[in-house]
Amino acid sequence: MVKIDGGWDLPSFWLAELAPFARRPPLKSSQTVDVAIVGAGLSGLWTAFYLTTIDPGLKVAVVERETAGYGASGRNGGWVSSLFPVGWEKLNRQFGKDASQRLSKELVETLNEVESRVAELGIDCDFTRAGAISFMRNEAQVKRGVFEVAEAENLRLGAKWSLLNAAESDALLCASLVHGATFTPDCATVQPARLVRGLADAVEARGVAIYENSPVNGVENGSVYVGSTRLAASKVVVATEGYTAGIDQWKKTLLPLYSMMIVTEPLSDSQYEAIGSPAEGLCFADHRNLVIYGQITRDRRVAFGGRGAPYHFGSRVMRSFDTHGPTRNGLEDTLYDLFPALEGIRIVRHWGGPLGVSRDWLPRVSKDSRGSIWRIGGYAGDGVAASNLCGRVAANEVLGVPDESMARRVFSTPPRDWEPEPLRWAGVNLGLGLTRVVDALEDRGAGTGWLDRLRRKLIGQG
Ligand SMILES: Cc1cc2nc3c(=O)[nH]c(=O)nc-3n(C[C@H](O)[C@H](O)[C@H](O)COP(=O)(O)OP(=O)(O)OC[C@H]3O[C@@H](n4cnc5c(N)ncnc54)[C@H](O)[C@@H]3O)c2cc1C
Repeated sequence: MVKIDGGWDLPSFWLAELAPFARRPPLKSSQTVDVAIVGAGLSGLWTAFYLTTIDPGLKVAVVERETAGYGASGRNGGWVSSLFPVGWEKLNRQFGKDASQRLSKELVETLNEVESRVAELGIDCDFTRAGAISFMRNEAQVKRGVFEVAEAENLRLGAKWSLLNAAESDALLCASLVHGATFTPDCATVQPARLVRGLADAVEARGVAIYENSPVNGVENGSVYVGSTRLAASKVVVATEGYTAGIDQWKKTLLPLYSMMIVTEPLSDSQYEAIGSPAEGLCFADHRNLVIYGQITRDRRVAFGGRGAPYHFGSRVMRSFDTHGPTRNGLEDTLYDLFPALEGIRIVRHWGGPLGVSRDWLPRVSKDSRGSIWRIGGYAGDGVAASNLCGRVAANEVLGVPDESMARRVFSTPPRDWEPEPLRWAGVNLGLGLTRVVDALEDRGAGTGWLDRLRRKLIGQG
């Protein structure tokens, strides 16, 4: 029987907006394809798209435990950005002098690629390029903002960043306690569930088989298993991001770190004017350490999210972890702190989901030592655009197409495992707690030198 998904049983506001929808049938009988992909999120689906672009005759099947877009791809903040989870200087140290410049350009070009593919495939996902503003709300944030703009200029990074004074910042979006802001035009927004589900329809129309309600319980060279049903494939791509730890052999590769969101009802005219009548589709954040992110939706809601929810022992991922009362309340307080005029606005939905974080925070397209299994992902919260770039690299790798991109070079470095438990649990949660302390100290103008270094080490960013 085909399951019909209704609004509230879906794990995000964005997916619920599209409900009800029927799930595609599961994988019921053993069969053979050229490439099997595990996970129908943006990574798996873009990989399928580029595989069939390179070789339209290729037989590709995507196997998804729930429904297309059920994971982070249908739950995210909708920033289609060129942000990268690893610092540019660190990347230069590891990969040589022009690495940052080349990779950052490839990431910016990826925005154009996503925009043109969305148009070509007729995916109606509210793609809007209104840029991103990041407020500087204390002295430490000013220092970071000024540094980032100078760094972008010095390293000649792909994305253009500029410094705004308080008045210029207010003209785009009016927040409290603002000393100034950084701004880039190189950022767009989407309604994320429309993007990923539209992409699923588009690849299906090109002949890719998508099986939903099909939890994969085993991956071997040449085979993917759903229960005892075998999908034979000479090549396998695993694109399970924050859920990867659920597959035994990759338990320590990607750490599931939860990011949480809230969304308001549509702003009234007076609320909208009180926050400066921002452009629809504008992304916003500030320069604090514990990441926050928001967008003004096409129907003038504020969709707002942030990190800080606890990491769960043993890298467990459960449906009950998708909401977290203290983080939800913290997000609501932060929203009112940023925009006092919105105090009391109705929050219509709260949700979250796991990000996939590698030990050194680099995304990967890595080939299993046995030869025909690729794992892709590890975007650490910056994957809406990067999954398109990774999907292209993965398709080239799988089909042996030469790829001179910096992305291929960076993404193909051998991954490192996370520490065993209980070290992983203690380190990550202590790191999250310290990040909050560092932000609070910065708000008070206090120094944070060694504490900041320690928390970076604990969460793997040191
Ligand atoms: C709350 C939140 C906000 C975010 N905001 C942003 C943002 O604004 N901008 C940005 O760039 N990034 C953001 N991200 C990150 C971004 O959404 C992800 O990096 C990206 O969507 C990853 O896509 P994916 O396809 O690799 O993974 P996913 O979308 O998580 O897809 C993995 C799929 O694999 C399936 N799966 C897992 N295990 C199995 C199995 N055993 N068998 C079969 N199928 C399986 C899952 O059901 C899922 O559908 C956010 C993430 C979250 C959670």
